[in-house]
Formats: sequence, structure tokens, C-alpha cells
Amino acid sequence: PTPGELLLDVQAVRKQFGGLVAVNDVSFTIRAGEIIGLIGPNGAGKSTTFNLITGVLPLTAGNVTFRGEKVGGLASREIARRGMSRTFQHVKMLPEMTVLENVALGGYLRSHAGVVKAMLRLDRDEERRLFKEAERQLERIGMKDQMHELAGNLALGPARLMEIARALCTDPALLLLDEPAAGLRHKEKQALSTVLRQLKAEGLSILLVEHDMDFVMNLTDRITVMEFGTKLIEGTPEEVQASPAVRAAYLGT
Ligand code: ADP
Ligand code: MG
Repeated sequence: PTPGELLLDVQAVRKQFGGLVAVNDVSFTIRAGEIIGLIGPNGAGKSTTFNLITGVLPLTAGNVTFRGEKVGGLASREIARRGMSRTFQHVKMLPEMTVLENVALGGYLRSHAGVVKAMLRLDRDEERRLFKEAERQLERIGMKDQMHELAGNLALGPARLMEIARALCTDPALLLLDEPAAGLRHKEKQALSTVLRQLKAEGLSILLVEHDMDFVMNLTDRITVMEFGTKLIEGTPEEVQASPAVRAAYLGT
């Protein structure tokens, strides 16, 4: 994508679970080269919005386009193929496998249909290519030294970075992260911040869903704040920080 190109256009998306409106007419955009924050208190509808964008949940109403193409209703794998890649709020890994194997497998699962069948047909060349790509992405995020460790032995910070390496294997233009800083220690948050800044400098665009306001403040170009399923405000980190409505939403005052 060229810098500034409209990548993601979220148009009045809505999600109802029975009688509960979890996401109510939420709109925002992401342009190439931006890190956009989506924040709000617990239960605000952030993860649901994220799942609507990435095709994990069907939309009740609204539209999501990525690079001008409608992605609402597409399978996650199809969305990944078009250049969007995500992590999950809870780390998904195979603890008995190495970091490298986890990343290679993750990259594979994201891009193939009929997992088991296709895996049995995986030829040596493709396997080699997958592992090479996994190694390249681990190096990119500074985890090459740990690639032969068992994934289950990783602390939470490196485990989250491993998830990002997995998401990078499909060569996305837009990376979507659901609460990557949750539960991390200060040092781990800093390491994550450094990696995200570096990815941005390399031209990647990022949607950062976070509960932790401090984490997104120094990292994002613009922020959308949600509360009770609706968009409360959108602005620069400074504007959001200065907003009495945002303070009230977070502090309940
Ligand atoms: P956040 O990520 O901002 O904490 P969520 O998007 O997870 O918020 O949840 C928003 C609201 O939708 C909450 O009230 C939650 O209980 C509800 N919700 C989320 N997923 C489901 C579901 N699959 N079925 C029913 N209600 C759900
Ligand atoms: Mg959530």
C-alpha cells in the first residue's frame, strides 16, 4: 500500500447477541502507515468489533471494506489472504513445540484450507519455505535467540511477541492486535512498544485494541474510544486524554 491509502473502512457496524447490542453503529478508518487504537472499558465492545472486522463473527448490520473490497462475511483465511492478520486476546500455542515450530505452523494454518489433509500433503520444499519464513519473522521481532525454546516455557511478554511473529507470516499490510499488553510487566510492555514502532517504521499499519490507556497513548496516531457498544469519541491521543467523557468512562465519575 502507498502511505496514506485508505486500508480499512469500518462503516456503521452493528452486532446483536439476542437482545444485547454489543456493537452499535461504530465507524472508523485506518490509513496505510497508521497505528490506530481502539480503547474502552471492559465490556465496551472492543473484541466484538475486532471479531466483526476479522470475519470471526457475522455482522448484524454495517460494512467493512479492506483496500476497497468488502470483507464482511468472508472467511478468516480469505481475509488473511487479502493482507489482514490478527492475534487473539488469549495466546494460542502448542506448548510442547518450539517457538519456531509454533510460528511456522501458525503461518501455515492461516493460509490453508483443509488443515489436516493439506498437512499430510505438505512437501519438503513447502515445509522448508514455511520454516524459513517463520525464522525471518522471529528475527524481525528480535526473538531469533529463543526460536528453539519450548513455547510453553516462554514468559507472557515473549509469548505475545511469538503470536505477532505468527501473524506476520502471511505478510499482512494491516496487523490487528487484541489487548497485546494485557498482563505484561513494565519491561515487557516497553519491549512490545519497541517492536510495534519498528513494524510501523517498516510500513505496516496496526489496529491496537487495548484496555490499557497508557500503553496506547505513546504509540498511536489516532484513537477511537468505545463505551457500552458505541463510539464515544475519536481523536489524537492528546484529544482523547483531555476528554472529560473519556475520563468518566474509565473512572466512572
Ligand atoms: P470488550 O472487548 O470491550 O471487553 P466485548 O466485545 O468482549 O467487550 O463484549 C461486549 C459485550 O458483548 C459484553 O457485554 C459481552 O458480555 C457481550 N458479548 C460478547 N461476546 C458475546 C457472545 N458471543 N454472546 C453474547 N454476548 C457476548
Ligand atoms: Mg476484549
